[in-house]
Amino acid sequence: MAYKPTIGLEIHAELKTRTKMFCECANDPNEDRVNVNVCPICMAHPGTLPVMNKQAVAHVLAIGTAVQGQLADFTEFDRKSYFYPDIPKGYQISQYEYPLVRGGELSGVALTRIHLEEDTASSVHEGGKTLVNYNRAGVPLMELVTEPVIHDAETAGKFARELQLLLRTLGIGDANLEKGEMRIEANVSVSNGAALGTKVEIKNLNSFRSVERAVAYEIDRQAKVLESGGSVKQETRGWNEDTQQTFHQRYKEGSADYRYFPEPDLPKLRISELPEFSSDTLTQQLPELPSARRARYTEKYSLKEGDAQFITASVERSNFFDSVIACLDGNERQIQLATNYLVSDLAGIYAKTGRESYSTISPVAYASLMQMIDAGELSSRGGKDVLAELVIGEEDPRQTAIRLNVMQISDPEALRVVIQEVLSEEVHAVAEWRSGKEVSAQYLIGKIIKKTSGAANPAKTREILIEELAKK
Ligand SMILES: [Zn+2]
Repeated sequence: MAYKPTIGLEIHAELKTRTKMFCECANDPNEDRVNVNVCPICMAHPGTLPVMNKQAVAHVLAIGTAVQGQLADFTEFDRKSYFYPDIPKGYQISQYEYPLVRGGELSGVALTRIHLEEDTASSVHEGGKTLVNYNRAGVPLMELVTEPVIHDAETAGKFARELQLLLRTLGIGDANLEKGEMRIEANVSVSNGAALGTKVEIKNLNSFRSVERAVAYEIDRQAKVLESGGSVKQETRGWNEDTQQTFHQRYKEGSADYRYFPEPDLPKLRISELPEFSSDTLTQQLPELPSARRARYTEKYSLKEGDAQFITASVERSNFFDSVIACLDGNERQIQLATNYLVSDLAGIYAKTGRESYSTISPVAYASLMQMIDAGELSSRGGKDVLAELVIGEEDPRQTAIRLNVMQISDPEALRVVIQEVLSEEVHAVAEWRSGKEVSAQYLIGKIIKKTSGAANPAKTREILIEELAKK
């Protein structure tokens, strides 16, 4: 029997802002000292008042514009009450009825909503005790919910990757999963009929690969439960990286009563009354989005789909590529070379060092290296050697090639001089070639390349050699 899996995602992402959501404390995810970015407001002391962080609102409106969602005209914040050590107020300021964004679409997946809330503190479990670090409490957090329209694990992973790329492209979040800056939950159900099956929520997904594997595992698990005549229980499950299995955490009994009510200490917002948040202004401020960038690479520069995908997957990589292209004056062959060297050789160098960074490599130098390779001035081995030097900050590819002794001789006149020398030395081979033994040409090319210490361009050498042989 065929089962139909249905997946919806809930993704939280910390937003990059100078200060926290409702106070002047620094929003610094790299702060190592514990409990230093705290104040009476984020600690919810009586008598304090929250003040809304405009930058955080702007960030959510920017992503809402990028996914072509409907931006709220009226919006407000609500208190979501629950009691837990990581939430000092006893409630979280979130959005319930009036999220900043409704609808929209990303990577072919329809979105339900995007809202803004504050993050909780982080708990550290140590020697049977739980310690709480409040630096993160009150940091602006975006929550994005998709419609339950995903039907396979691969699409779920692809969506999450695209969202990370979008957050980085917009410059509104770093979205590193391993640092908890982006947290993914997947709701998975499997049905054997028209109605949706029972929804199971999977938490603790700390990498895109875990998202894909956990979803695939859960689809399989639920299908087996149904197949054996059982029924799937509504529950929250975790993901065990070691065993590659989901495991039971707790049963969900209905929806918890968070006693949502409008936050009385914050003003209601009418977005349309704020000129900097008009949809025209927001649209104008958007950078080129990843999907548009990919399309530009494949359509304008005829890049292969896979190459365009690889280059745009990192904002830094893609910015570097654009700077290189700007130096190549629309030369398609050189752009193709620049692409090939980027996706294979440069990527290979970075894979070896384990750190991909474009801060030391000059796009101008990289572009001139491509032009030298295109002009046949360097052997292909020489191109790789010079590239390795550019990566560590060398800025003159020509001088580097000369220093490394990898310049290739392609100049016909220079080659002709060497060829004539070899022809006068190799009388026997020349005679053989004239008597119809064509392999003798290969022997002569070998001699010529040897005489130039490997610098003669093989293709050019062959061309001129045949010309010279035919002359006599
Ligand atoms: Zn504070």
